[in-house]
Amino acid sequence: MSKTGQDNSITLKSPEQISVMHEANQIVAGVLSMLNREMRSGLTTLQLDRWAEEYCRDHGAEPAFKGYRGFPASLCVSINEQVVHGIPCKQTRIREGDIVSVDFGTKYKGFYGDSAMTIPVGTIPKRVQQLLLVTEEALEKGIEQVQIGNRISDISKAVQDHVEEQGFSVVRQFVGHGIGSNLHEAPEIPNYVQKKASPRLLEGMVVAIEPMVNLGKEKVRVLRDRWTVVAADGKPSAHFEHSVAVTAEGPFILSSRQDN
Ligand code: MG
Ligand code: MG
Repeated sequence: MSKTGQDNSITLKSPEQISVMHEANQIVAGVLSMLNREMRSGLTTLQLDRWAEEYCRDHGAEPAFKGYRGFPASLCVSINEQVVHGIPCKQTRIREGDIVSVDFGTKYKGFYGDSAMTIPVGTIPKRVQQLLLVTEEALEKGIEQVQIGNRISDISKAVQDHVEEQGFSVVRQFVGHGIGSNLHEAPEIPNYVQKKASPRLLEGMVVAIEPMVNLGKEKVRVLRDRWTVVAADGKPSAHFEHSVAVTAEGPFILSSRQDN
């Protein structure tokens, strides 16, 4: 889930807290790997939500998005031109040729995990394949910038440059975020460079970096369900997210998956 609210102060996590956050995020990673394995045409988005919540609870965590600001489900499922925050339901079925963005969060021992990926279903057009690849690469390039002493804007620039070099657009209305004992904490992690001053990365910060990339123009709008964000031009959109800790050894990807 992406941040829309107000900032507070940046919190630094101890190695013990980062280790708990690793556990929280590994449950998220397990959910995403399971969804990646099970994804196929004919499934309802509600089925995906049920499986995700079941896996989460079976592993001793709570689904973080359920009830968050009134969100009615555990999993965000956003298909094709839907960017983020799609609501699972029993009427919507996955179809061959879809791209399905799944975003999941856990709460575990007082800390949050948050990660997302976009999954292709069957054969998708070449340019859409490229969209998925470039969005995931942009996330990787952002993560490479997670070094003590760098600024948040170094992450933003790495993401934006890679996306725009390939002719795609970064969504500006929603951003990544700090994460810890709150799902959304300071600082905001925009996927584009802002003109204002940007905080430096300190050891113990944990950030959720989440490029949302449109095949067409960057403009988005929110549907009447007040949650689902769609590309205004109706073209496909991709979303990849990892929660990453700043350590003396460099970026520690807390939500890394085995299938990656
Ligand atoms: Mg998320
Ligand atoms: Mg997030």
